Amino acid sequence: MADILVYALHYDGAINKNSLGAVSEGAKLASELGGEAHAILLGENVPHELAATLGKYGAKKVLVAQGPDGLAQPLVDAMAKAITDGGYSYALFGGGLLGFEIGAGLAARLGAGVAMEVTNVRAEGGELIAERPILGDSAISEIKYRSAVGIIIGRLNAFELGDASGADAPVEQLSFELSPHASQATMLTRGEQRGADVDIEGADILVAGGRGLGKAEGFQLAEDLAAAFGSTAAVAATRAVVDAGWYPYAAQIGQTGKTVAPKLYLAAGISGAIQHKVGMQGSENIVAVNKDANAPIFEFADLGIVGDLNKILPKLTAAIRARKGG
Ligand SMILES: Cc1cc2nc3c(=O)[nH]c(=O)nc-3n(C[C@H](O)[C@H](O)[C@H](O)COP(=O)(O)OP(=O)(O)OC[C@H]3O[C@@H](n4cnc5c(N)ncnc54)[C@H](O)[C@@H]3O)c2cc1C
Repeated sequence: MADILVYALHYDGAINKNSLGAVSEGAKLASELGGEAHAILLGENVPHELAATLGKYGAKKVLVAQGPDGLAQPLVDAMAKAITDGGYSYALFGGGLLGFEIGAGLAARLGAGVAMEVTNVRAEGGELIAERPILGDSAISEIKYRSAVGIIIGRLNAFELGDASGADAPVEQLSFELSPHASQATMLTRGEQRGADVDIEGADILVAGGRGLGKAEGFQLAEDLAAAFGSTAAVAATRAVVDAGWYPYAAQIGQTGKTVAPKLYLAAGISGAIQHKVGMQGSENIVAVNKDANAPIFEFADLGIVGDLNKILPKLTAAIRARKGG
């Protein structure tokens, strides 16, 4: 029997979607191990109802710790205490930078093994095995834990949301002490750096722009096309362009960005690097516009248009507007 402690990130009165996926996954795995999944939240006066709602996703108990929200070190203190007192065998995190930081800190504190960027976890012989893509996602490594506690940090969107049909969970307060260094950092403000309104994971149609758009202003072409498609469409981007400051990080697709699977993924001026491909290869239909007929993206596009996007995108936008009668 092994219990799993799942970290739930919350912000602005809502639990992060990746964390909810992790709670669902933790509950499924714990039942296969004959144990329970519990969740933990940290914050200043976390509302009881918010914590209890994690029961709907399968948490049998929710621990709430009082402390500074959104910082890794206080969470390392809180989770280390919870794990030591509660005898948890595994700590599970959905994707996200904060999870990476807490997981790494916990691994050091508890002498625990840690697997990051995990895309699948399975229960076998009473223990968990984490699967993690390696070598540019061309192979999968399987990780077993020799340590008393195993730390599993998922890749963004790796864990699917359960059906949320459970009952509210009992909520317990967890008291813990902050290490002296954990109170050295203070949260000044929280929020998405830019582009908080970009929801590329929920969109049915994505118009993704790459360096071929030439400059930040070039994204207007992608935005016009997405607007022509309507409310189910959004604009996404490659890492090259978000690093260049042309578009918000929230829109980045790929290995270090988001994983998407829209009905239509239209790539404009994107070469199709493996690190980008891993974030969008599950798309139902892939259309690529690129002026280089040898661009790697054409190797996995369903439809390829070779040409200058500055000419092709406005024509596509006009054609879609005309078809929609606008
Ligand atoms: C550890 C690591 C992690 C990474 N993670 C990610 C990630 O998460 N996501 C990601 O996207 N990348 C990631 N990258 C970067 C990745 O390797 C590529 O560098 C990046 O995806 C390239 O972006 P791009 O296609 O916009 O630019 P480029 O590779 O420069 O491609 C631009 C394309 O535009 C075409 N083009 C130029 N002008 C026009 C025009 N007028 N009309 C039509 N086509 C035109 C060119 O032919 C070219 O194919 C990562 C890299 C590393 C090392």
